[in-house]
Amino acid sequence: MSDMSTIAHQPIYLKNYRAPHYLIDDINLSVDLFDDFAMVRSSLRVRANKHHETDLILNGEGLELISIHLEGRELTSNEYEVTDQLLIVRHVPANFQLDIVTKIYPKKNTALSGLYYANTSGTYCTQCEAEGFRHITYYLDHPDVLAKFTTTITADKKYPHLLSNGNLTASGELPNNRHFATWEDPFKKPCYLFALVAGDFDLIESQFTTQSNHEVALRIYVEKGLADQATHAMDSLKRAMRWDEGTFGREYDLDIYMIVAIGDFNMGAMENKGLNIFNTKYVLAKPETATDDDYINILSVIGHEYFHNWSGNRVTCRDWFQLSLKEGLTIFRDQSFTEDELSHAVMRIHDVRALRETQFPEDAGPLAHPVRPDAYIEINNFYTATVYNKGAEVLRMLQTILGKTTFRKGMDLYFSRHDGHAVTIEDFVKIMEDVSGLNLAQFRLWYTQAGTPRVEVTDHYDDITETYTLHFTQTCPPTPHQAHKKPMTIPIKMGLLDQSGQAMPLVLHQKMQGLEHTLLLTEEKQEVVFQHVTTKPTPSLLRHFSAPIILHYPYTDEALRFLFQHDLDAFNRWECGQQYSMRQLLQLTQSIEKGNALQMNEGWLAIYADLLMREAKEATVDLFFLSEMLALPSEKYIGEQMQTIAVDNIHAARVFARLEIAKKFADVFYQHYQANHTHTEKYKFDMKLIGQRQFKNSCLAYLMLLPNYAELGMTQFKAALKHNMTDTQVALAGLNQLDSPLREEALRAFYETYRHDALVVDKWLAIQASCYLPNALSQIKALYKHPAFDIKNPNKVYALIGAFGRNPTVFHQKNGEGYLFLADVVRELDQLNPQIAARMVNPLTQWRRYDAARQALMRERLEALLHTSLSSDVFELVSKSLEEK
Ligand SMILES: [Zn+2]
Repeated sequence: MSDMSTIAHQPIYLKNYRAPHYLIDDINLSVDLFDDFAMVRSSLRVRANKHHETDLILNGEGLELISIHLEGRELTSNEYEVTDQLLIVRHVPANFQLDIVTKIYPKKNTALSGLYYANTSGTYCTQCEAEGFRHITYYLDHPDVLAKFTTTITADKKYPHLLSNGNLTASGELPNNRHFATWEDPFKKPCYLFALVAGDFDLIESQFTTQSNHEVALRIYVEKGLADQATHAMDSLKRAMRWDEGTFGREYDLDIYMIVAIGDFNMGAMENKGLNIFNTKYVLAKPETATDDDYINILSVIGHEYFHNWSGNRVTCRDWFQLSLKEGLTIFRDQSFTEDELSHAVMRIHDVRALRETQFPEDAGPLAHPVRPDAYIEINNFYTATVYNKGAEVLRMLQTILGKTTFRKGMDLYFSRHDGHAVTIEDFVKIMEDVSGLNLAQFRLWYTQAGTPRVEVTDHYDDITETYTLHFTQTCPPTPHQAHKKPMTIPIKMGLLDQSGQAMPLVLHQKMQGLEHTLLLTEEKQEVVFQHVTTKPTPSLLRHFSAPIILHYPYTDEALRFLFQHDLDAFNRWECGQQYSMRQLLQLTQSIEKGNALQMNEGWLAIYADLLMREAKEATVDLFFLSEMLALPSEKYIGEQMQTIAVDNIHAARVFARLEIAKKFADVFYQHYQANHTHTEKYKFDMKLIGQRQFKNSCLAYLMLLPNYAELGMTQFKAALKHNMTDTQVALAGLNQLDSPLREEALRAFYETYRHDALVVDKWLAIQASCYLPNALSQIKALYKHPAFDIKNPNKVYALIGAFGRNPTVFHQKNGEGYLFLADVVRELDQLNPQIAARMVNPLTQWRRYDAARQALMRERLEALLHTSLSSDVFELVSKSLEEK
């Protein structure tokens, strides 16, 4: 590593935060789009903030400065200085007008940050969070500088729609087949919320009347010919608007709400004021191209961006260390929304599974950081599962501790006290203290301590005194730069079950607490004594996953099976099943390690028998939930339980177990499949049908492990192709793992049918990248060269390379070829799009978790990367992952 690169990759620290020296009250922006370039005229009203310094320092990168005028006078070259990243204007007054003209090249912008041309959609668009605006013009590009934006766009008429934030105030014709539109946003905002779009779209329109009778025009812009794929997004938007009024009293504030779907987009979606820009993946859906999961994700992401209008836009972040202030809060809001709209149990299971498979490993690895980080080199690297998902869990705990009513009071106060301001996480927590009267000093540790806390629980029942005691011990492992941790506030929602599975009344300090209670842990060691416990209970702990921790209680296998059947908390029923399966799977991996014969545990099979032969036949059964109950823990999550991740043994154990379950229950699976299949062939986004579809497809996935049911998969595939993607995709995923001509036939038919639909081609790539047949890597490499793959399109990279990085046996194959391939891709990608390259390098950074031979191979690739010229995005992740512990 040369000295030069050390200088280029300097960290930024929270402790160095200073309020801006200057503020911008108004910006008049005019963007003239031409074929090869864009001219950007920016007119700023600037005034000194408290600390008066005489140099104004603006951010700007990759800009060609054409001219700069202060109060109408053009500045000479000795009155300002331009560096790679800054424009410094010397000796400015306390209040003045600054006019800057810059030239940029959107079609050369492959990083997709700032203003760029989206090739797939043939559209100009922007992405400014976190620091994209400085690629458009010189500006105070910090979230604590809030200005009123007026934006004029001019372009050729081949781009009929010219959009920006706020309300349209003027538009008209110009010479040379050009036209213009002017937009005014009445709300002050930081520049990361600025957006601009110019393109030719189909438009679907609707209206929404808010609870105070304000009419809002709703518009969704999609690529020509795709309007029929935007109806679910529109419906989702209305559901989100209604839910936020009902749940948080939040109403929309402009006359118009626009969503534009773009095919080349780094993120999922962006909450720009009044003009959300979305990845097509989270807008477009119709039965023949989108699965149940796609429909659910669209509901969730549309909700998420809409909720940002208050949690993020009206009240924004002071600096990027506070990112979780808006993201943790908004994820919490979108999770609550989909739980309310769809299913409390299943959505919670999905969210916890994602947390455990992405955030827990992050928290245990070299890139562990608190929900509010202290330092970063590249802020784009901190859009993490910790900031987002653990941040959401922290708010969920706060709501549990305060109670829903008090928490809502706090939210109301937060929005009214800080409306129009850029604030901190501390401001938020302070409000929750104000409304609850609680001291949250210890709770704040959730924002500053990294690592996943572990809670060990033991118990003691005394039948003489009829008392039942729970002993809790909490610890939190060391993480980079944080060797020692303090005990945290941990809410444990719990209940006790008697031998017949009935909930027992909970009496603490001689006071009746009902049938469910939330214990609050605050000490390293703590005990709780329940009175009047007439019989030895079975504890049900951490219900609905009330804290983002790893909890361990020494359940016997029988107790886990008992709770799996009887617990009143649906999440905990699922959790006990997962724990039971996990034990068995870990034992199987050990048997493989020792070379012993593999055998299925009878109790485990009994669980499946109970689910399939009893519960599935009950009139009130929730089939959506049942399909979750049938799933085994993922290879990823099994690996997380091991000190050294035994990639091959985990895979073999899981394949063995699934096959044994399939063999044992083939007839029952088939009956359930048949019973639910005919109802669900015609697609509708409806909870009952989703449940039936998910359940029948879980059955089919097991059946397809058996050679004589491969044809059944093929039959479903052919029948569903062109009209039901949920059914098509499950069948194709099953066929994809078969060493059979059916595999090639199905993959070919799928591609021929959908080759012109970008999002479906992504599925085709991802499915093949998830294949674990022996020649999978060479097929993935071939797909990398296939015309359907485009390294400049983020969705294609996520589909092929992202799925490959999550395919344990292929990525971690012993000869190291998977590592070599990924490193080569990252190096190529980093030249084009550093943000996406940084996301792809992640699987390599986990190298310490593997055996010595794999460690050496992965480390070699990381070190080789470090010796090339890297973006600060990739440099930060690679260098941190190599740091000595
Ligand atoms: Zn967000």
